[in-house]
Amino acid sequence: MKPPPFVYHAPGTVAEAATLLHEAGEEGRVLAGGQSLIPLMNFRLARPGHLVDITSVRELDYIRAEDGRLRIGAAARQAAVERDPAAAERAPLLVEALGFVGHEPIRHRGTVVGSLAHADPAAEIPAVALAMEAELTAVHAQGERRIAASEFFTGPFSTGLETGELLTEVSFPVWPPGTGHAFVEFARRHGDFAVAGAAVLLHLDGEVVDRVAIALCGVAGTPVRATEAERRLLGERPTPAVMAEAAEVATSRLSPASDVHGSSDYRRQVARAYVRRALALAAERARGGTR
Ligand SMILES: Cc1cc2nc3c(=O)[nH]c(=O)nc-3n(C[C@H](O)[C@H](O)[C@H](O)COP(=O)(O)OP(=O)(O)OC[C@H]3O[C@@H](n4cnc5c(N)ncnc54)[C@H](O)[C@@H]3O)c2cc1C
Repeated sequence: MKPPPFVYHAPGTVAEAATLLHEAGEEGRVLAGGQSLIPLMNFRLARPGHLVDITSVRELDYIRAEDGRLRIGAAARQAAVERDPAAAERAPLLVEALGFVGHEPIRHRGTVVGSLAHADPAAEIPAVALAMEAELTAVHAQGERRIAASEFFTGPFSTGLETGELLTEVSFPVWPPGTGHAFVEFARRHGDFAVAGAAVLLHLDGEVVDRVAIALCGVAGTPVRATEAERRLLGERPTPAVMAEAAEVATSRLSPASDVHGSSDYRRQVARAYVRRALALAAERARGGTR
């Protein structure tokens, strides 16, 4: 299957890429790993007239630890992040989630930032970005702006990015030493998009939760942060009963769409079970468990 005709641009710098996107206006799209965009074009679900390929923009190909954050440039591939020691140390939740994104050949092409821009509600990386309170940098012909992950996802496959804007970076704040993390998901086959998935970061002060973040994917039109459940956990010992109650709070008001993978109620039940599992695993890791 071939995509409809388009003009291909291969800029060498961010400034060139931003100018090309500005000139192309509504007809322009960024091409990163192409793992989502090219299939959409092949199926005629997207027909951009101009593709601005950023994979040769070397200044965007980086993963670095800086100012208490892990910074990932827009040309950095998912597989590179998965193998990066700084990412493993500073954002183990992201690295764990990447293991669920498609299959290895896909992750060798796909980018972390491209997954965020694509904003598939079932995708893993957007849920991690929400849990970690990541920040995105968008460049346009006149300058740049920062967008919090909590403001970025506006609907299924929709973001706050404006025409002509290029995402150059996502940065993840590093949580304190001793934080437990867990990304778990249920998919019908490994590598498929999640029916439901949960991302958790949990920090203990002694035996009591003093910081926690929970985000879900696959259960709504955007990734969802479970703030009420987080409040329920703060100041508590993460016992099985407390974690089960938090999982109930995190999911009881969700109304996921029914589809071929299951009914709305089924997805909610799966989500509840996976939030509970993620909390239990993160708490075990926070206590020094190695699993
Ligand atoms: C068989 C298969 C299975 C998959 N399974 C999963 C899965 O389980 N979970 C999952 O999350 N993903 C999955 N994917 C998608 C994959 O992870 C993609 O890599 C990812 O969604 C998009 O990243 P990309 O770099 O390929 O972006 P592209 O496909 O190049 O771009 C995707 C969209 O984002 C825009 N974009 C990309 N980069 C930027 C930027 N820097 N600035 C502005 N806009 C930008 C593009 O214009 C386009 O609209 C799968 C893909 C395939 C083919």
